[in-house]
Amino acid sequence: MGDVVRVDASRWNAMTDSMRAILVDLLLHGPRPRAELARRLSLSPASLTKLTRPLIDRGLLVERGRQLQPETGRPSQPLEILPDWQHVVGVKINPEDLYAVRTDLRAVVRGEHDGRLAGHDVATVVEAIACAVEQLDPAGEVGTVGVSLAANIRPGDSVVRASHYLGWSQVPLARLLAQRTGRSIVLSNDVRALTAAQHWFGAGRQSRCFGVLTVGKGIGCGLVVNDAVVAGYDGHAGLVSHVPVHEGGPICRRGHRGCASAYLTSGSIARSLAASFDSKWSSFAEALDAARAGSPPALQVFHEACFALGVLTAEIANVIGPDRIVLSGEGIGMYDIAPDAVREGIDARIHWGASPFDLDVEPFAFSEWARGAAAVAIQSLLRPVGVRTITNEIPEDS
Ligand SMILES: [Zn+2]
Repeated sequence: MGDVVRVDASRWNAMTDSMRAILVDLLLHGPRPRAELARRLSLSPASLTKLTRPLIDRGLLVERGRQLQPETGRPSQPLEILPDWQHVVGVKINPEDLYAVRTDLRAVVRGEHDGRLAGHDVATVVEAIACAVEQLDPAGEVGTVGVSLAANIRPGDSVVRASHYLGWSQVPLARLLAQRTGRSIVLSNDVRALTAAQHWFGAGRQSRCFGVLTVGKGIGCGLVVNDAVVAGYDGHAGLVSHVPVHEGGPICRRGHRGCASAYLTSGSIARSLAASFDSKWSSFAEALDAARAGSPPALQVFHEACFALGVLTAEIANVIGPDRIVLSGEGIGMYDIAPDAVREGIDARIHWGASPFDLDVEPFAFSEWARGAAAVAIQSLLRPVGVRTITNEIPEDS
């Protein structure tokens, strides 16, 4: 096992489920008076005091000054979580590179690192991730690392079952990384990780049922239903990228005519513009610039893409009945080109009986993917149900 050192497992392992519930409430909703916290969690004031005292003693919670509660007029001391008590690292693996962030417990980014992948063999990728972790945590203060990639990974998996772009099948990535880094490792599919970040720390924080739709090189769909991220029984939920949009549309790489992918991916947009109008715009970024400059052919392509975005939004809303849908991803800059077309797409496909929902368009930084991996690491500490964290202490055959 080498000279690896376990960092922080004991101080989290000692926490009861009730303590974690208190921490999750304060983390997601901010400081609360004791009385309100006790009421929300169905705890007696005495139980709350007993549960929070060790957390205050350890420096994870702090008591603020007394405040009068508006409902009762009684004084109460708000409790607040100190998010720097524990940092985590999140790493997103891409085909050519990786991006890593160090965050506090509120998933606020405290450090970033990007690195190239010299190859896709497992040892090279493990080494690149380990280097990123050591760059962001040279003092060994971080005990838990979330790792996300576009791959079939079920919640609790220690193995990457299949990754098309890495050419991997059944790779025990969590165990290898735990042994190499001495940290606990949590794996996640990248879109589910991004959805987890929206669920706890983003636009979905107040919602128990919402969807996340990302556009970029591919199309991603994350779903939260009954306050839980949906994975499907085998890790394959949310496959919406080839939903039919228009029967006379362009052809996607799978040979479908007029599916969402044929309109919406960065490659499809660049190809449509190059093939139909002018080959000088060969990338998504160039196409976006052309549309912003008012080029009619570029505006046409983005109008159709935004309509497709609206159709997918409506189909997700029809299935889960959300109170909001979050639009994001590295290609979401397209929304501002033709927001009316998004609405037209929604109106064209939404069921007449569907309840209204909010549409959140989230500005996207590439660090969001790594921040998603960090969010999954935070969830593994605070709500470990259904999340299996792999540590370097687990035997190889587990
Ligand atoms: Zn298709």
